[in-house]
Amino acid sequence: MEDTLKQRIAKFVVNAWGADCLYDRKERAVRVLEEAAELAQAEHVAQETAHRIVGRVYFRPCGNVFEEAGDVFFTLLAWAWAADSDLEFLTEKRMERAEGLSLDYLRKKHEEKRAAGTSMTGAVEVPEPNAKWRTQHVLVEPEGQEGVAGCTVCGGFEGSLPLHCPGTAMTVEDEQQVYARALDFARGIWWRPRV
Ligand SMILES: [Zn+2]
Repeated sequence: MEDTLKQRIAKFVVNAWGADCLYDRKERAVRVLEEAAELAQAEHVAQETAHRIVGRVYFRPCGNVFEEAGDVFFTLLAWAWAADSDLEFLTEKRMERAEGLSLDYLRKKHEEKRAAGTSMTGAVEVPEPNAKWRTQHVLVEPEGQEGVAGCTVCGGFEGSLPLHCPGTAMTVEDEQQVYARALDFARGIWWRPRV
């Protein structure tokens, strides 16, 4: 059942905005964030509270995408219980409505989001000067140890270098876990590889 709906939605997105838009996971995450914010607004959550939540989330360590996606669905199901709503029915209704809209209208809406800087597709990411993370390690070879490299930013060394540089010094514990392949940092996210 879920797959049928998932396929219909995927088809719809590709038809309206192209495959790039469907497979751009950052864009997909941004759309989830927008809809979650709209749900909160419709439930009379104050804007200040919404800002506080985003601030707190970004202040804390990054989670794993798949665990977080599970949490999104988990919390939505709990909301559905509280609101005495059938999510599948609600999604079906939205799908029907979306399928009835013209492609011109849908693309115009998407362009508006792009212009407002709230869509990721086609956007060129400009790293902020004080970006919390960067992709590249700043590698140096310690004196007398040519051929091995350590990062002056995160402190990773050879086997304890994460895939990408987290941009801040790792704790000893983090470094040990990276070395043990139990923790890694990639594309701005700390995550735990499945072993
Ligand atoms: Zn580094």
